[in-house]
Amino acid sequence: MEFCPKCLSPQNMRLSTSVREQTNAEGVIKKILTKNYQCEVCHSFVRGEDIEVSGDDIGGATATNVTAN
Ligand SMILES: [Zn+2]
Repeated sequence: MEFCPKCLSPQNMRLSTSVREQTNAEGVIKKILTKNYQCEVCHSFVRGEDIEVSGDDIGGATATNVTAN
């Protein structure tokens, strides 16, 4: 739940993500993952997040199992 400034109350958010590629001055391609949160009730845009991802990192970190004896 996020606070919707249009509804003036907390609402369920609809999350949409998109990935775009950006080339910097050195010619390195970076992937930018954009998360957009939209109010489910009034469909107004509430907030967005830009997350820089590298390579196949989309989907989160890989868990590592450590066994301690
Ligand atoms: Zn709303």
